[in-house]
Amino acid sequence: MAALEPRLTQVAYEQVDCKSALNPVKNMMFSWSLNPYTGCEHRCAFCYVRAFELRADRPSDDRYGRSIRVKINVAGVLRSELGRRSWKRETVVIGAATDPYQPAEGRFRLTRQCLEVLRDFANPAAMITRGPMIVRDIDVLSDLARRADLHITFSVPTIDDDIWRKTEPGTAHPRQRLKAIEKLVAAGIDVGVGMAPILPGLSDRPELLEDVVKAARAAGATGLWANMLHLKDGTREHFMSVLARHWPELLPRYEGAYRGRAYLPQSFGEQTMREVARLRTLHGVSDRRRVILKPPPEPEQLSLLN
Ligand code: SF4
Repeated sequence: MAALEPRLTQVAYEQVDCKSALNPVKNMMFSWSLNPYTGCEHRCAFCYVRAFELRADRPSDDRYGRSIRVKINVAGVLRSELGRRSWKRETVVIGAATDPYQPAEGRFRLTRQCLEVLRDFANPAAMITRGPMIVRDIDVLSDLARRADLHITFSVPTIDDDIWRKTEPGTAHPRQRLKAIEKLVAAGIDVGVGMAPILPGLSDRPELLEDVVKAARAAGATGLWANMLHLKDGTREHFMSVLARHWPELLPRYEGAYRGRAYLPQSFGEQTMREVARLRTLHGVSDRRRVILKPPPEPEQLSLLN
């Protein structure tokens, strides 16, 4: 069996001062993003940020996620930006380019500080994460949810142990994420599940899709959306190397499906999306979409998300 990437790895933290906390975003389902960290220790094999890292001349291979920039003053800057007269209290999306509850947050607590600022200004917010550490901040999230619109999306692409272990070397087990969803929902917070990315030939098996839909329903998720894997340059090379290490028999299929393109032709994912829709109906899960990342941002948009 091929060696697994270590779950714990040496990470270098560089503390930096940011000039702005809010980043304007174009052509997405939201207008403002906020990322307290640059880089993500979760190091998912399919991470779309790798494509941006390649374009920015930073490592998108095995070295990605081992050096994190920590925007140490981000909450103070956010406070002054939300206090401007020109600010129109638009929704701020946290975690569009990095996970706000990656391990660094345990030490630096910048996501928590930003949530406190959003709460103080009763500013609508949305967040996408794979980090169960979020339950630490249920107090501030509940306060924010009482004052403004708040939606959390938990990414749960699969709950298959083997696929998770091989493609998400730094994340908490999906079952821990589901427990976190339960706790957030019990606290009155609106939480949905993003079943993405679905990996062709791996997590697209109907029984695996059903496991996620059923688990999302049981945890109390208010909706579920799904998306197939996209492979842009930077993400593609790394993902293919992981595939070669763990599932070499799938390489020809992926090389054929993604040849010359980042997105699967519609016909490839259609059956899977139909199956997800069927399962949602069967298990009574809504397809309600709030402020989410769909489709994943283009590399040029990611530069604005940082
Ligand atoms: S958690 Fe999200 S941002 Fe972090 S490595 Fe995984 S896909 Fe990328």
